[in-house]
Amino acid sequence: MPATTKSAAYAAQTATSPLAPFTIDRRDPGPTDVAMEILFCGVCHSDLHWVRNEWGTANYPVVPGHEIVGRVTKVGSSVKGFKPGDIASVGCLVDSCRTCDHCKKHLEQFCLNGATFTYGGEDKHLGGFTHGGYSKHIVVDEKFTLHVPKGLDPAASAPLLCAGITTYSPLRQWGAAKGKKVGIVGLGGLGHMGVKFAHAFGAHTVLFTTSPSKIEDGKRLGADEVVISKNEAEMQKHAGSFDIILDTVSADHDINALLGQLRLDGTLALVGVPPKPMAIGAFGLIMPRKKIAGSLIGGIAETQEMLDFCGKHSITSDIEMIPIDYINTAYERMLKSDVKYRFVIDMASMK
Ligand code: NAP
Ligand code: ZN
Ligand code: ZN
Repeated sequence: MPATTKSAAYAAQTATSPLAPFTIDRRDPGPTDVAMEILFCGVCHSDLHWVRNEWGTANYPVVPGHEIVGRVTKVGSSVKGFKPGDIASVGCLVDSCRTCDHCKKHLEQFCLNGATFTYGGEDKHLGGFTHGGYSKHIVVDEKFTLHVPKGLDPAASAPLLCAGITTYSPLRQWGAAKGKKVGIVGLGGLGHMGVKFAHAFGAHTVLFTTSPSKIEDGKRLGADEVVISKNEAEMQKHAGSFDIILDTVSADHDINALLGQLRLDGTLALVGVPPKPMAIGAFGLIMPRKKIAGSLIGGIAETQEMLDFCGKHSITSDIEMIPIDYINTAYERMLKSDVKYRFVIDMASMK
């Protein structure tokens, strides 16, 4: 067992308790490890699902957080790519087997031997479960540590590590580009990054939202058009016209209405993870020949590619910076779709 150092953190002790101060152990860096002081951590809706055990798989205590940007404090003897003082980042993955077919294809998130997720995964070094970025310090293998391009604001870059890659990867996979009509459903953390990427890839970008108050922001962020998804007439106007629809919604909603927006061979790509299964009418899928697909974050190489793309195109997240003791209020606001458009915790507020 490696030596450890204590780190301040915030944890939920049960599915119904609020997040509160907690102390965790971080391993001292081994030869291939990068140790960092966490500066900023984004707040993903998955954190809330996990803290409240909405997917039924959480282990307590939970220290969430997988949109991490920090300053390197120490590196192991074999680390080549990072040095103390560098700004570095960590997303949803901290390890995988590196040898299976999926890992060899740079799809570590689908590791056949089980990827280690940043929180709630099996901690192969210390035993127990991994703890995420609502903490002061983290130690991660160099292979799962990413570079934040110079010139990008570190705080506004944190959400790229999950919201960014989760929208970038499926839009690339299903061909969002000039000449394609792409819908993004939900203007939250993921959705607002989806709008920015679809626009940056040159696609005709349409935002579907339930919130009329977000129309102007949707256009400012890159949407060519905005549809209020609860308005039948507006939905009818676009029926059967989309090549790709990326659904980022976190709660129960009507995906049959979204299938109706697709054209021949169009793809409805799900990235949102509502806790309950959703019913699909077969007719809406077979006519005229449509696809439903899903996507989970992205591999490490693609995550670095996305960060580099953001560096080149000056893309970051629109954030609301919060102190750590605001986190429980932030969760309540997220449930009301009241986030513009990602909360990011300023870790300097954690003592
Ligand atoms: P978020 O910031 O809370 O955004 C979700 C948005 O969905 C809301 O802002 C709202 O947008 C819309 N929405 C909420 N409830 C709705 C309802 N009942 N009907 C229709 N629209 C509704 O959440 P997020 O952090 O972007 O995460 C979204 C989902 O993606 C979560 O389930 C999360 O767990 C999942 N996720 C998946 C992956 C992956 O790899 N697949 C990665 C990260 C997160 P409007 O106000 O515009 O309607
Ligand atoms: Zn996330
Ligand atoms: Zn593997």
